[in-house]
Amino acid sequence: MPISIKNIFCVGRNYAQHAQELNNAVPQAPLLFTKPTHSLAEANGREIILPGDQGQLQYEVELVFHMARQYEPGIKVDDLVDQMAIGIDFTLRDLQSELKGKGYPWLLAKGFINSAVITPWQPFTGLKAALEVDFSLDKNGQEVQRGNMKDMIFDLPTVIDYTALHLGLGQGDIIFTGTPAGVGPVLDGDHFSFKLADKELGNCIIKLSK
Ligand code: MG
Repeated sequence: MPISIKNIFCVGRNYAQHAQELNNAVPQAPLLFTKPTHSLAEANGREIILPGDQGQLQYEVELVFHMARQYEPGIKVDDLVDQMAIGIDFTLRDLQSELKGKGYPWLLAKGFINSAVITPWQPFTGLKAALEVDFSLDKNGQEVQRGNMKDMIFDLPTVIDYTALHLGLGQGDIIFTGTPAGVGPVLDGDHFSFKLADKELGNCIIKLSK
């Protein structure tokens, strides 16, 4: 990956229809979590190995934004973000439910190796332009998810301000901004194609470990 990445922040339940499909309440403030940098993998056509022995694995397609500089209060998104990508926040859903049930952190269900797959970076051409295009995910040639930033519960400026206030936000940090409805299971050999405005930005094939 040509850009060096520091922190990986993620927003959960940021699209109402996705929160509903998992029977989760819509949060009152951005629901933030992180992944280790070891979770990163690039969707550059290669095979990606993911856990096949820990219950159901699901895909969550998301828009991902890269910070060009240190956050300052009042900074505009267009001055802070320089690149964007489409990513999948891979999730071990059974394990996540088990951990949530015990009141434990989600880390093992969300932060495992190769759980943050992202396409090659694209120049960010501004918030206004980004709001005008859909992002989508095809699995084995069939579209399974489609979203638009307009449907985010907490929009990108709000997510950025909130993250910076509570956790800090600096050059090299990236934010996964949440998934729209349509998450589903991943099987061995599945092919994923990541699209912005119906143009493929990257793809990968999943190999499940035994
Ligand atoms: Mg997610």
